[in-house]
Amino acid sequence: MRLQNLEINGFKSFSKKTTLEFQNSIISIVGPNGSGKSNVVEALRFVLGEQSIKSMRGSSGSDLIFKGSKTLPKSSRASVTIYFDNSDKVFRLFQEGGENINLNYDTISISREVYSDGLNKYILNGTEVRLKDINNLLSSVNIGSSGHHIISQGEADRILNASSKDRREMVEDALGLKIYQYKIKEAGRKLERTNNNMKEVSLLRRENAPHLNFLKKQVDKFEKAKEMQVSLLSLYKEYLKKESIYLNREKSNLFNEKSKIEGELENIKHKISSIDGVNERVESEKERELKILEEKIRGIRNIKSEIERKLGRLEGMIEMEERRSNKAPEVVIKNPEEIKAIFEEITLEIEGAIIEENIAEIKIILLRIKEILQKFSGNIISSGPRIPGSLSQPDHEENIFPENSELKNRQKEVFTEMENIKDEEKNIFEKIEHLKSEINKENEALHLKEKEKFDYRVKHQEFTSSLNLISVREENLKREEETFENEIKEGGALIGAEILSYKNFETNEEVDRNSQEELRRKIERIKIKLEDVGSNGGSEILKEFEEVSQRDNFLAKEMEDLAKSIESLRALMADLKEKIDIEFKEGVKKINVEFTNFFSLMFGGGHAELSVVIENKKRKGEEEEGEGEEITFEQGIEINVSLPHKKVKELNALSGGERSLTSIALLFAMSQVNPPPFLVLDETDAALDEANSRKYGDMLEKLSHHSQLIVVTHNRETMSRAGILYGVTVGSDGASKLLSVKLDDAVAIAK
Ligand code: ATP
Repeated sequence: MRLQNLEINGFKSFSKKTTLEFQNSIISIVGPNGSGKSNVVEALRFVLGEQSIKSMRGSSGSDLIFKGSKTLPKSSRASVTIYFDNSDKVFRLFQEGGENINLNYDTISISREVYSDGLNKYILNGTEVRLKDINNLLSSVNIGSSGHHIISQGEADRILNASSKDRREMVEDALGLKIYQYKIKEAGRKLERTNNNMKEVSLLRRENAPHLNFLKKQVDKFEKAKEMQVSLLSLYKEYLKKESIYLNREKSNLFNEKSKIEGELENIKHKISSIDGVNERVESEKERELKILEEKIRGIRNIKSEIERKLGRLEGMIEMEERRSNKAPEVVIKNPEEIKAIFEEITLEIEGAIIEENIAEIKIILLRIKEILQKFSGNIISSGPRIPGSLSQPDHEENIFPENSELKNRQKEVFTEMENIKDEEKNIFEKIEHLKSEINKENEALHLKEKEKFDYRVKHQEFTSSLNLISVREENLKREEETFENEIKEGGALIGAEILSYKNFETNEEVDRNSQEELRRKIERIKIKLEDVGSNGGSEILKEFEEVSQRDNFLAKEMEDLAKSIESLRALMADLKEKIDIEFKEGVKKINVEFTNFFSLMFGGGHAELSVVIENKKRKGEEEEGEGEEITFEQGIEINVSLPHKKVKELNALSGGERSLTSIALLFAMSQVNPPPFLVLDETDAALDEANSRKYGDMLEKLSHHSQLIVVTHNRETMSRAGILYGVTVGSDGASKLLSVKLDDAVAIAK
């Protein structure tokens, strides 16, 4: 790897694009004061990522842009590009993952642009990149950001003036340990990021924890609900199957019982209606016959009354006839026949009254009896010596009256008439008696029929009651069927369609209602618990729980990974620090060998060396004063010199030339141990006398075996060692110009 070109455009005094080619190992830049030589050195600093504007003699980015002259306008930006030959592919990019990527370009170009507003751009082979990428890349070829390999004008003794800590950094840089520092920094940043990540992950987990716990409880509940659903399903299967058996059986029983009872009822109704028909027919016929006969009897009674009246009149006429003829006895008592007839008449009337139901008719009969009795008492006539109350005998009376009397005959005829009518009456009475006994018999038969009808009615009533009972049972069955259907719906809502699998449940046909009730109570208890637990939305909760716990597991795993990477980062940092420590100590030893060589060469003897010192540093903590102070140990570098023939050892006591020589000796020693790809020396030789200039030139040549050297000088000796000489002049337009010159011209230009 070597420097190829440097392109400067609009940078400081270089208005137009100016190219320096580094075809030789020693390139010398010469020119009068103020021509722009140091601007070339600063262009190199600039393109390699220098962040201190001050070190480039400016106060802001715009100071680096060509400001214009009388004849040239000012530039809008300053741009510098450096080209490296990378045919050996040494440029590498250190990745955050730890591996290095070799850049597969033959030429590496790095550009930096600055605009008037201070904006900077870094471009690597045509692609805009970050400054840290440039630093990363350059550190791989031992071009450190401390800039130890670019010695600006008047900075030859910079390393002598620097603090022991800054010296240590320069030495580390020169030893190529910056890459490790860079790695440590990267690891430190990564460690910080990882720690922050860990905090974030831990916070996330803490934030997640209550929700996760809540979901866990819900899932436990859901699992419990699932278990309950399983036992509920098995209870349901048994219950529903048995219930369906019971309901079907009950239904068919009720149907059979109902059909049977309905048949019986139809039969009974038929029988009752047939009994009703017979009754009506028998009743009306007998009654009518009886009524006719009773009417006849009443007619006969009237006739008998008429006959009796006739007989009474005849008796009266006979009595009068007898009194007229032979002073008839004072008392005429009716003959026994007459009295018997009267009694019989009264008896008949009474019997008629007995069977008569109509009160009005009975009263008529009683009036007739009264009339008969009045008539009988009116016929009794009182007479002298006859014993009152003794009845006259018709036969005896007939002895009194003449047998052929017309009246007597008439009386006889009427008696005969009476006898006849009585016979007729007797016949009718007999018929009536017979009819009554017939009616009684019929009534009895009717009564029996009535009883039979009553019995049927009772049975009808019984069957109707049974039918009502069946209706009640049907209603109950309907309700039970509804309950059954509702149970399937409710159970389905809690368990799902699987509830219908009860149909396949195997059970015996015996269904005990008590055990069914017990099953139902168990089902109800589980249902209440299940409703309390809430089985709904379980799958969503489960899904959410899985998601949240997966996330938590992921975070836990991430915590583990982060902890591991923190551990490995710490280990890496410790390793790197150890490596730096070892390499630093060894590097210092090697530098010391070269340092003392160069030193004695320069001074013709004497001794110089670097020593590593440990400095205690107190750092205040963020807490109260006096507390939280932290003591850190830092390594620094001290320079110890011993000039030949002189006792002076303090650096401060050295002359300007001695300081320059010591600095150059150290710089060259460092470059010898770990040669940088190039070294820029801006008038480092300014303070040297002729003899030392020669020694300086010798050392340059020695160094140029390993590093390219770009030297800005006014010194002829130094110029004489260069392969290429560039002369810088200021043109008539006020801008720096670059031209390739020969040594003699160079000496002339330099003056
Ligand atoms: P010496 O030999 O005295 O060290 P030199 O050749 O190193 O001189 P430089 O310091 O490189 O000279 O150049 C300084 C010149 O650059 C000054 O004349 C200054 O005016 C000019 N200069 C610096 N910045 C700008 C700028 N932004 N625009 C134009 N010219 C600038």
